[in-house]
Parts: sequence; structure tokens; C-alpha cells
Amino acid sequence: MAKSKTQFTCTACGNVTTKWAGRCEACGEWNSIVEEAPLSSGPSAATLGTARGRRIELTDLRTEETPPPRTVSGVAELDRVLGGGLVPASAILVGGDPGIGKSTLLLQAAARFARMGLKTIYVSGEEASAQVRMRAQRLGLTQSPVQLAAETNLRDILTTLDEERPQLAIINSIQTMWSDSIGSAPGSVSQVRAAAHELTAFAKRKGMAVILVGHVTKEGQIAGPRVVEHMVDTVLYFEGERGHQFRVLRAVKNRFGPADEIGVFEMTGKGLAEVTNPSALFLSDRGQPTPGSVVFAGIEGTRPVLIELQALVAPSPHSQPRRTVVGWDGGRLAMILAVLEARCGIPFAGLDVYLNVAGGMKISEPAADLAVAAALLSAREDAALPADTVVFGEISLSGALRAVGQTENRLKEAQKLGFSSAIAPKGGKSLTVDGIKLNRITDLASFVGETFGAG
Ligand SMILES: [Zn+2]
Repeated sequence: MAKSKTQFTCTACGNVTTKWAGRCEACGEWNSIVEEAPLSSGPSAATLGTARGRRIELTDLRTEETPPPRTVSGVAELDRVLGGGLVPASAILVGGDPGIGKSTLLLQAAARFARMGLKTIYVSGEEASAQVRMRAQRLGLTQSPVQLAAETNLRDILTTLDEERPQLAIINSIQTMWSDSIGSAPGSVSQVRAAAHELTAFAKRKGMAVILVGHVTKEGQIAGPRVVEHMVDTVLYFEGERGHQFRVLRAVKNRFGPADEIGVFEMTGKGLAEVTNPSALFLSDRGQPTPGSVVFAGIEGTRPVLIELQALVAPSPHSQPRRTVVGWDGGRLAMILAVLEARCGIPFAGLDVYLNVAGGMKISEPAADLAVAAALLSAREDAALPADTVVFGEISLSGALRAVGQTENRLKEAQKLGFSSAIAPKGGKSLTVDGIKLNRITDLASFVGETFGAG
């Protein structure tokens, strides 16, 4: 039986192929595929054989499961993203771009949990202990009972954890860890997977919580955090633009809490400070009402957040007009431009379109559709929307507006921040929020008519 010994693995998503390619079929990333020695497939027997296993105890659906005991850090933004605190024997992955502030966040989290009474060990594979201590000094955390180690050898780390029995271990980063049982270099897909597997299995066995830090890698030789996402209970991504001072910690998977929950932090000289009222922060730079600027009343996780959308529409000097989006989905923008053209007769051909979510925030909610359309129209017509108005609603291909969830929460948040009117789709239950004049609209064409005249 002829068998090729090598396989090719995508460092971005972990997809395995038998052939090298310039672009990964699974995730579409360029230059992310590397040659790897295959993982050991274990015993080669084709079936399990006839040896009997242990009989598994079955339970019914009524069996009451007590919720896991949680430890809160005292940082509300962090605890909410974790689903209400840290669960013992759980594995958490914190991914993010290099230099975004993951080490600062995790050192602060380590200090908080340690002060709450959890025995905490922080293993740094990137920085020497002295550097971590210097960071701790800058952040004013030197009095916290966190134990430090600078090590990358997985066997030594597991032996130490086994003897020390911490309740929380932080591994910064998973890409620097290496197992001596695997031939390939640290950072390769097989090493990163093996290290994540060993650490999460150890955490489950010993009842320890483990936080793995993973750098998002743009291309090439180092495996990204996505290759271990399926092994852990909770996946958090730390986002933000380097030029902006605020950061968002977003749960994209959580076995112990709601996904899509966000925590908002501000990068200060003394580390990350929690932002309890993100809407105020996202709207803080807003001046007089300008054409193209619209405030979207969104929901992030379980919390309403007001975010400013900015659009710029200008005659294009190119034969192929530009469509540039920051913080939103480009495909969704194309859809809204098509609906505006087909259902409202407003063409954007020959016009460059730029759309920006202010402050570097990323929005994925379809409820932003109407706010995007409003920003595009406002920019195109050079007419500002009233400054006291928020907008939300989903647009369907027919041009009809669809009601979205949590209308009341969106309106209450708007009212709290001094807005006095809202434009939203018809449908859903009728409701009133004191201090908000609610204008409910059935379709995009009538929105254009009411807000911008004939359009
Ligand atoms: Zn891939």
C-alpha cells in the first residue's frame, strides 16, 4: 500500500489536504498552507475488536444539573463575556492580533482572580519573567499573589502544574509551547494542536481552569488560534484598532454562557480600564450633525450599544467605482446598494462609496441595514439626519423592512443617551418608550420618501 508520508495543513484554519496550494480551499486564506508531518493516528487496528468497555450511566432530560460554581474577577466587562465568571475545569482561548494588548488583559485578569482567592500561575513563553514583572509594576499589580514562570517546554509545565495544583493557569502564548513528543517546530499546526490538547485535557482532569493566548497570524509559518477553537469551551477574541484607545473582548463561542457577548475596555497608561457605558464612548467624538453620519441602535450580546455609522459618497474617477467598508460586511453593503437601486430607483453607479463604523467597532447585526442605507442616502443627498435620531432595522431584498429583536432595549438606551426620536420597521408588538418619538416604517421606499423627500 503506497502512502504519502507528508500532508499539508492550513495554518489559519487547520484544514488538511494532500496537495499544496497557494490558497486554502476551506477558509480562502492565501499563503497559509505548510507541509507537516502527519499526526500519529494511534493504534492501526481497523475496529475496536470484541473487548467490552465500561457500561455508561444514562440519565434522562429531567435530571437537574447544578450550574457550575463560578469565580468572578470583579471586572464586570470580563465576567460578563465569560458568561458570569470563570468556570473551574474549563478551557478558554483568547485570540487577537499581536500587540493589541492581550498580555496586559491577561496579566490584569490573573491578578484579579488571584486576589479573589484562586491559586493562579502565569506561564509566559514570549517574555522573560523580568519583563512580565516590569509590566506588572507598570500596571500596579506587583502585590497580587500570581506565580510566574517563563517556560515553553510543555512537559515541564505540566509537571509543575501537577505539583502546584493551581486553580487557574494562563499560557501566553500557545504558539510558543512545544511538546518533545512531536517532531515539528514550535508554532506549527501539529505543535499548537498537541499543546492545546494536552493542556485542556489536563485542565479537565485536574479541575483547573486554563486560559490559552493565541496570536492571530496573517500568513505563513505559525498556526493561528482557529486551529484549536474546537478543543476549548470558550473562544474570546480581543479586537480593536491600534490607533484607537478602546478594545472589545468578544465571545464567539461559549459552552457556559451566551456567545456574541462583548466587554469593552479602554487602553490607558495603567492598563485596560473597563468601560461601563460603551455608547457614550462610541459617540463621544460626535459633533454637529453631518451628512453621511447616522447613529445605529445596536445590540451586542445582551446589551444595547449605540454606534455611529459614517458614509461618504463621491463621483468616481475610476471605471470601476470603489466600495470600501471598515467594520461591516462588504457583501451586505453591496446588497443594500442593489436594493436601493432596484426598489427605490437610487443608483450608485459611477459613485465611490465608503462606509465606516466609527471608533473601529465591528458590527455583524443585520439590524444595521437601515442605518447603513440611511447613512448612504444622507451622504449621497448631502442632507444630514436630525442629530437626535437613532435608526435600526433589517432590509430584505424586496425592499421591505423587517422588525428586529429587542426594540425596547434599543429605544431605552437611545433615550438614556439623550436621543428623542427613532426610525424603526413596522411589525412586532407596539410599544412606547417615554421620551422617544418612534417612527415605524414598512419599506425602504417610504423611508426614502419621508426622510429625504422624493429621493
Ligand atoms: Zn484554511
